[in-house]
Formats: sequence, structure tokens, C-alpha cells
Amino acid sequence: MSVTELENLDTIVSLAKARGFIYQSSEIYGGLGAVYDYGPLGTELKRNIRDHWWKVMTQYHDNIVGLDASIFMHPKVWEASGHVEGFNDPMIDDKQSNKRYRADMLVEEHIAKLRKDGKEEEADELQELLDTTGKREGLCKDLHKLIIENEIRAPESGAFDWTDVRQFNLMFKTQFGATSSGDDDDAVYLRPETAQGIFVNFKNVMDTARQKIPFGIAQVGKAFRNEVVARQFVFRMREFEQMEMQYFVEPGTDEENYEKWLSKRLDWHKELGIREHKLRTHPHPEDKLAHYAVSAADIQYEYPIGWQEVEGVHNRTDFDLSQHHEYSGKKLEYYDQKKQKRYTPYVIETSIGLDRAVMMVLCDAYREEEVDGDSRTVLKLNPKIAPTKIGIFPLIKKDKLQDLAHKIEHDLREDYNVLYDESGSIGKRYRRQDEAGTPFCITVDFDGVESEGEDTVTIRYRDDMTQDRVPVSRLREVIGEKMRSWKPE
Ligand code: ATP
Repeated sequence: MSVTELENLDTIVSLAKARGFIYQSSEIYGGLGAVYDYGPLGTELKRNIRDHWWKVMTQYHDNIVGLDASIFMHPKVWEASGHVEGFNDPMIDDKQSNKRYRADMLVEEHIAKLRKDGKEEEADELQELLDTTGKREGLCKDLHKLIIENEIRAPESGAFDWTDVRQFNLMFKTQFGATSSGDDDDAVYLRPETAQGIFVNFKNVMDTARQKIPFGIAQVGKAFRNEVVARQFVFRMREFEQMEMQYFVEPGTDEENYEKWLSKRLDWHKELGIREHKLRTHPHPEDKLAHYAVSAADIQYEYPIGWQEVEGVHNRTDFDLSQHHEYSGKKLEYYDQKKQKRYTPYVIETSIGLDRAVMMVLCDAYREEEVDGDSRTVLKLNPKIAPTKIGIFPLIKKDKLQDLAHKIEHDLREDYNVLYDESGSIGKRYRRQDEAGTPFCITVDFDGVESEGEDTVTIRYRDDMTQDRVPVSRLREVIGEKMRSWKPE
């Protein structure tokens, strides 16, 4: 058997559309850039990943509680958080095509090209220059210089006709209420991250959930960013979902908690079924840290577009709580009864993009296999998160087989997402479920219903395509055991 892994992102984009995982938003109107809708299978897959995260973070930790904060927040929140002032991307326009690019990414892409061409030294030099570009004021000028000096051309038009580099704020602004003047003074934003909802509710949760430090608040929700570069499918969207946990700790214990959470979060990805060699942690160099962080690392996955961040783990210090204290005038402190000590907690943040997780899971599970001259596309998803767990098929459309298949469907559907299918050849039905990532298919045939004793059926396993004949009463046991023991290949 020959096995090919995913090489090209377009393959996943096509499969996602064809099988009902992910569609372009408003496609019948030509689509809306970097906004996507999840179809029937995608909705299930996304929900299963979300539920798995929620369970591991809250149910398995008695000191982590949940929160569901609003998307709209008081405008002052974004002043305090630094987003109004500093949540910018440097952008540059190609004057010939009027296409807009992120200036730093143009340089990154140029570096990748140099490496591909074997020009390692040149690439290292440019990388060093990029890493030391000024943080705020100097950044635009520095980036512009790098683009011009390295004669970086526009990727699409090939032109070398650039505007200056300008800062572009990524927050979406909207009118709020009938009395809004539309001025910046009362601008309300669609939240660009879920974290701030946690910080502003820190005191509410502490007062009501009877938690002692260290404790965490977990939240899943939509976030919005007016990304300059909006390519790469659900990797970079303008509306996306985050799963974040802010862990409040005593200052001085922050670095050990940061290390602990980085390692726990990496383990979570492995438990999700992602192959270990496709995962790595990537610490941010000190001079590249965000304004709020003292330590930060990405958990990266090797997507077909290269090693990229799927999750960030940050030591945010007491930056956020102190800022909200200053801007709101409300104390956001903790009193440690035992130590008789009052302090502003430090925060360790774990922040994963659910859509990037969906894309990682799809990319990692994708295989094309040639078996005895026959080919199949299969998603080898962890059964725990597979959208459909079990396909149930009568071999042919005969009452006796259909009745038992429906009975099994009825019995199993309370615990599993099952799918009854009687159309097409059995081979075609298997292939359809392989592409949907369904780990088990149960086929009801005459041998099983007409033999002496208890009815039996065959279970066919997606990953190795082997089959077992099993009495109907043992189905749950066999499936449960296979689900528990599943490992990625
Ligand atoms: P990047 O550098 O790739 O823009 P970021 O460092 O700005 O990401 P964070 O602000 O740390 O990202 O957000 C936490 C997580 O949210 C990221 O690890 C990512 O999974 C997800 N995320 C951020 N921006 C987007 C986006 N535009 N589309 C999808 N997911 C996103």
C-alpha cells in the first residue's frame, strides 16, 4: 500500500467544501474575504474539538471555571488593553494592482524564498534585520527600507511600485445604539480577543466562584480582526473563534506556571491525535515579545503552508489587571488570607484559535492511499472528534437487513453520532465515510441474520480497512474499546 500525505492546502480547501466541512461565506454572492461558514460535518468536528478543550480545561481542573462574556464591551476596555493605541499591522500597497500586503510578511516570504534557493547566508542576514526592526515608530520606515533594498516585488503583479508602509488598526468599529454619533469617542468595537472579557470579570468571578489563587477562567467565543492579509483559508480569518484560559497566580510563581501550562497545552494537542513530529513549541525572542508579556511561546503545527502558530501561551504579568484598575478606578487585587498579603495577580494565558485547530486536525488526518490498484482519500481523525462515529449499512435493500440496520441505528444513536446509508454499492459507501473521517462502519448482511444464534454484523475499521464479525450485543463494547485505544499513524 502506498500512502501520500497532504502536500497542498488547496487539497484540503476542496475536500472541506465537497464534503461539507467548510464553505466560503456568502459564496453565491461571490464570497466575503476571509470569512467562512462551517457545514454539517465541519460543525460537528468543530464542536467536538471545542467540547474536548472545555472538558480538559474545566472538568479536569477543579480550579478552572467558565465564563461567557459579551462580544461588545465598554470602549474603555480597549484603551486600557492597549488595542486602540497598538493593535496594528504594518501594511503596504502595490500601486499597480492596488493590492494590500502585510509588510513584515512580504519580507518573511522573501526570506523563505532565499532559503528555498539555497541562499542561507543572505536569508539569515535579512532575518536578523527583520528581527531588529523598530517596534512602533521606526517600524514602518525600517520595513519599507527592507522591501526597497531587497527589491521585493509584489507577489501577484510582480511590480516594484510600492506605497509607504502605514499602520493599520485591526479592530472593527461599529455604531452602538441610536444615539451614537459615530465619533471615535463613543466607538464600540467587535472584540479582537476574548481575553479582556475575562480580565474585566476577574473580581465578579473571584467573589462568586469562591476560588483561591491559583485559579483560572476559561472562555470560548468569537473574535474579530480586520486582517490585512486574509489568505490561507481558516488560518487567518476576519471572524474566528478563540478558546482562552487565563490563569491567575501569585507573582513570583508566574514563570513556573508558564512552563507548566506550555507543557500541558502541548500534551493536549497530542491527546487530540496530532502526530508528535508535526508539533513544536517556539519561544518568542525577548525583543519580539508583545507589550504585555515577559515570556511567550507559540505551539506550532507544520501546516502545508509551513510551521505556524496554532496556540499562544503567554506570561502576561499583572499588565491587564493593573491597566483595568487604572482605567476603571476599581481595584482588581487579591487578598491572600493565609499569607495576609494583598497583590495584583499575574496571569498565564493559553490562547488557541479553534479554526486553526480544525485546520490542523484536517491537515494531519488527510491521507491518499493506493490499495491493490484502488485509491482512496481518507481522514484518519481521532474517533473522539470525528463528526460521524458510525456508518450503518444494510448490504442490500431487503427488509430483513434494513430492519436490523435501523434497530442498530436506533440503539446506538443515543451515545454516538451515527449515519444510516443504503444507497450505492457497499464500496462506495465505505469510501464516502472514509472521506468524512468516520472511524467505524457496520454492515448488516444475510450471513449475520440468517445464521443460528444471535444476529451478527461486520464492523469495518477506517484506518486499516480490516473487518470483524461481531454479535450485535457486543457492538458498544468493541467500539468503545477501539475508541479508547486509537493512536495516530
Ligand atoms: P498571528 O501572529 O498568526 O497573527 P497572533 O499572535 O496575533 O497570531 P494571538 O493574538 O496570540 O494571535 O491569538 C491567539 C490565537 O488566536 C492564535 O494562536 C490563533 O490560533 C488564533 N488567531 C489569531 N488571529 C487569528 C485569525 N485571524 N484567524 C484565525 N485564528 C486566529
